Amino acid sequence: MDVNSNSLRDVVIVGGGVSGLYTAWRLLTGKAQTDNSGPITKVTVLELSKRTGGRLLTWRPFTNNSSLHAELGGMRFFEQQELVWSLIQYFVGRNQLQPPIKFFVGDPNHNNLTYLRQRILKSADLSNPEKVPYLLDASSRYAGPGDIAAGIIQTVLIVNRATIAKILGGKTQPTTWKEWDEVKPHLEYGSRKLWDIGFWNLLSDLLSPEGYDFVTDGFGYYSLTNNWNAAEAMQSVYLDFTQSPDYQTLVEGYDYLPGLLKQEVQKAGGEVRLEHAVMKIDRESDGTYTLQIRNTEPMRSKSVVLAMPRRSLELLDETPFWNWEKAVSGTAAPGRLVDYLQSVIPYPAFKLFLAYDVPWWRKPPVSIAAGRSVSDLPIRQTYYFPPVKDSFPPIEDLASPLLKGPGLVMASYDDLGAVSFWKSLEDPRDLRPQIRSRLELAVKALYPEAETRLDPYQHHVMEMSRALADEPGFLPAPAEMVRHAQQQLRYLHFNQPLPDPMQNPHGQPGEFLAAYKDWSHDPYGGGWNFWAPGVNVQKVMQGIRRPFPQENLFIVGEAYSGSQGWVEGALTTAEHVLRDYFHLQPEPWQPPSAYLGY
Ligand SMILES: Cc1cc2nc3c(=O)[nH]c(=O)nc-3n(C[C@H](O)[C@H](O)[C@H](O)COP(=O)(O)OP(=O)(O)OC[C@H]3O[C@@H](n4cnc5c(N)ncnc54)[C@H](O)[C@@H]3O)c2cc1C
Repeated sequence: MDVNSNSLRDVVIVGGGVSGLYTAWRLLTGKAQTDNSGPITKVTVLELSKRTGGRLLTWRPFTNNSSLHAELGGMRFFEQQELVWSLIQYFVGRNQLQPPIKFFVGDPNHNNLTYLRQRILKSADLSNPEKVPYLLDASSRYAGPGDIAAGIIQTVLIVNRATIAKILGGKTQPTTWKEWDEVKPHLEYGSRKLWDIGFWNLLSDLLSPEGYDFVTDGFGYYSLTNNWNAAEAMQSVYLDFTQSPDYQTLVEGYDYLPGLLKQEVQKAGGEVRLEHAVMKIDRESDGTYTLQIRNTEPMRSKSVVLAMPRRSLELLDETPFWNWEKAVSGTAAPGRLVDYLQSVIPYPAFKLFLAYDVPWWRKPPVSIAAGRSVSDLPIRQTYYFPPVKDSFPPIEDLASPLLKGPGLVMASYDDLGAVSFWKSLEDPRDLRPQIRSRLELAVKALYPEAETRLDPYQHHVMEMSRALADEPGFLPAPAEMVRHAQQQLRYLHFNQPLPDPMQNPHGQPGEFLAAYKDWSHDPYGGGWNFWAPGVNVQKVMQGIRRPFPQENLFIVGEAYSGSQGWVEGALTTAEHVLRDYFHLQPEPWQPPSAYLGY
């Protein structure tokens, strides 16, 4: 479709993350519920950065091993996430994606490590009071952090079992997202509604201070046990973290899912405009909307979908139309846009990857095949790639094929307070020109042939690699950051001497192949968003999708969803808007029972 900037669009979507591209694709290809609705053909996605994908972003550090990726943002999904799962299966069925592969959290060798208070524990040690370095009271002495969290959830559910049984027809325990949604508004703790309470406050009532620290330190995330909405936190911890779902990941890298959606949007006649930062939105007297875009002409549209998180929404300039004090729909009491925006809390998140010539973690005494280790050090969570699927006997022989590289460690996956540890180790110099040349050399090494001969996936990789040079918060890790990470990795792995990370083949002598991404930079403001305590989540989630009654402005994405911190949340809010306001039918590839949240 060739539309000039002045022509009136049917829908402009602001944000080229997974929710925005999914919305555009469905609008262009979906079937209307009735024949009366006019066709939607002029769809434009405006994305401020040089790339699509938002918080799905894959760094591909190896030019000779294209399936060994560093997932800087989202990395895994599971079958109970019905929408993203079926979307991926749809593309697999059309040979546009390879079948996903297992994403390991547990080590097949059972050698995952937990380093707490300078003590190294294996999984089985976490429920051994002789070994756990926390003064736990009797009720939590024989349980690991996950079991203690599960126990707290049970305690609250047991108190509410009569209510739950009434709602769930005799069942006393919600086990699915839908069932949790049904019971959550009614759960109580003491004399208060559970959603009115902060999760940290609740945990501090039910656990000793040592118990709280053990759960928080051992879980690997500081944000999970922070003071967010207790009802939402319980659901999230129960469904996503204590049930050990069978996580999967994309062979191509998770950023290829939005990459594919972008291709499909373009095939269907839609436009995706990169480097189009929307500054403000106003409403014209004829009911259309004008979007002011940085350094280019404004654009007009009949409808606008804002597919972005809280911080991005807050960065939009105020106008008489998009105004923080403006009354919003869906609240019993008069509510303002600002109340909606601030109903979720963004949490800082950070990842640091180090590449090695040899996967040293496979050697004894570490002998880890795959998965995750956790520590209370600022690195917090450490993952090892590529995974070895099955357990292996201790490697005696240095010539073992298992010790063939390269290997990649997500040395740190951390959040909240730990992010500031790494921030102050950033190089204050402007390294952008340097990375640009490194990334360009890497792209050339990966695809020496002419650009016109690349297939769609190769094109995607090339575009994403180039765009990384301008990605806020993404940089090669400076030597001092690597030194700290190496020191903490050493503590975690039995104080073994570790090899240095490998040299960046395209860098200066002594420059490591290592990079980090800090998601607290604008326009994200954090890695994920959690509902604040005291928020009536059902009302806000339903209201914010169309915040101003009668206006054709919609908000979708992970932030205000029922599955925060997951792609599933981003897609389900989009699907709600597509069905409820754009009157699209569900797709045949979607499971008819797929639950979309409130
Ligand atoms: C460290 C980390 C780990 C994660 N792990 C997982 C995981 O394992 N599995 C999982 O499912 N999910 C995970 N997530 C969450 C997942 O990545 C997000 O839920 C999802 O990608 C959010 O998609 P979105 O479309 O809602 O928003 P985003 O991806 O944030 O997209 C918003 C887009 O809007 C653009 N934008 C903002 N302002 C403007 C403007 N003014 N004009 C134009 N464009 C604008 C941004 O540049 C961005 O591209 C993780 C996230 C992080 C950060």
